[in-house]
Amino acid sequence: MRKKTQLRTGRVVAGLFLLTACGACLLAAVSFFAACSGGQPSNPQPSDTGISFADGNSPDIVYRVLQKPDDDIHTGSLILVNNEISFRGSTGDAVRIYEHKNSTYYVKDKNVTVCPALMNPLNRMFADFYKVTGTDDVMMISGIRSIEYQRQLYQDELAETGLSTSRLVAKPGHSEHHTGYALDFGLRQPGRKYDGSGVYHWLNENCTQYGFIVRYPPEKADRTFIDGEPWHFRYVGKPHAELMQAKGFCLEEYIDFLREYPNDGPHLSVRASDGARYEIYYVRASGGTNQVPVPSNYPYQFSGNNVDGFLVTVEL
Ligand SMILES: [Zn+2]
Repeated sequence: MRKKTQLRTGRVVAGLFLLTACGACLLAAVSFFAACSGGQPSNPQPSDTGISFADGNSPDIVYRVLQKPDDDIHTGSLILVNNEISFRGSTGDAVRIYEHKNSTYYVKDKNVTVCPALMNPLNRMFADFYKVTGTDDVMMISGIRSIEYQRQLYQDELAETGLSTSRLVAKPGHSEHHTGYALDFGLRQPGRKYDGSGVYHWLNENCTQYGFIVRYPPEKADRTFIDGEPWHFRYVGKPHAELMQAKGFCLEEYIDFLREYPNDGPHLSVRASDGARYEIYYVRASGGTNQVPVPSNYPYQFSGNNVDGFLVTVEL
């Protein structure tokens, strides 16, 4: 009996020792990965909009390097275009909304076009809007515009106001409508303007869940150079739109903010309101051909910022 007790005690001590040793190994391994990766995401803080974000680099991402020419900073869904920064990319593929839309909204005519990336989020947003409100009378009235057409709009606006510049119509070459990522909403009833109020407030409030932002909030007119335009929506993708809403940033401020997350420093770790996880980092363009690290084991979105670098959004 006593021998058995001694044996059991011996086994327990050996077990405890093994457990402690394994625990120490595990701790050491975690510390090692944390040191290599710049740290695990640190307790993301939820915001009012249901999105949470913190500094953090996932140890699970394996990187490879892409060679990207400087010119590529001018394309992608996060490019910043305003009256100081012109659009220098090419619109690329464009699709007619008419050919891809669902039945929960309207489009002015067959010539309203956008980047293909917008169509799924747009259809989902209006399907949900219809489900919630039973309203289907929003009409897409302006998508991609040529520089020549924008020049005409700008000159018409100046002629009408008698001013030398406009705070409502962007200068030709400086309109988001050149990019393919902007859309103006209208209403189907003649004479009614879309102002994002009443039942339509749902769209202006919830568009970020689908990757869209109201690009020109009135309180940001000093940064955007355009007075409030509740009808002008810009696609920036997920989770950027929700993040901008949570931080109260316009696109000018957001592009500045993302420079705080360089590829060789702490990245921005995000959990969107639908639970999807992302990691975002910025790669400064150095002139000529750039070495841009991207994940080889996760999907990612890649965009220039149209100013000085690239933004990588990893979908974890
Ligand atoms: Zn517009």
